[in-house]
Amino acid sequence: MLNIVLFGPPGAGKGTQAAKLLEKYQLIHLSTGDILRSELKARSKLGLEAQSYMDKGELVPNAVVIGMIEKQIDSHAGAKGFIFDGFPRTTAQAAALDRMLMKKNIAITAMLALEVEKEELIKRLLLRGKESCRADDQDRSIIENRIRVYHNQTVPVQDYYEAQHKYKGVQGMGSIEEIFDRLCKVIDPLV
Ligand code: AMP
Repeated sequence: MLNIVLFGPPGAGKGTQAAKLLEKYQLIHLSTGDILRSELKARSKLGLEAQSYMDKGELVPNAVVIGMIEKQIDSHAGAKGFIFDGFPRTTAQAAALDRMLMKKNIAITAMLALEVEKEELIKRLLLRGKESCRADDQDRSIIENRIRVYHNQTVPVQDYYEAQHKYKGVQGMGSIEEIFDRLCKVIDPLV
């Protein structure tokens, strides 16, 4: 199996690159942000519980997202692999993911971290906010809070995978195709 953690700050291009990678390597895309947004759209209990956190750009509780991911993994038995996008976002989530995968005899192959400068992130997110109806992309202060939360709570996840020799940094500035080529150059030797 090929199990990739696609990592990077909000606006790094994880969703865009995940869409291209899952087509090339035939993987299942598991984006906790997308799952939470569809729960919210369906006005499910889980979605409504998550909304107050998402509206402020804060992280929803670990137990909620871990449960969601396990359900998705179990519903794709026989998959060639997964791309985890926007998850794990805390070291507690990373450790819970490892414990859960170990029980299923699955392992994370690598973490690919997209590196993008802060001003470029804000520019991309404000543009996405105009093009989509994501509330958390429309307000500069919510965007800045998401980037702050990323630095405070999510960046340590890099050290978690570095300690397992699975962390790989990838330059995330440039065209979509250029970035995709860089990702493929890292993934190909792992397949
Ligand atoms: P994203 O689409 O990945 O930018 O996520 C949008 C929002 O969903 C985040 O700002 C969080 O409120 C929530 N979220 C997504 N993934 C996670 C996660 N792994 N842990 C906690 N909250 C998350």
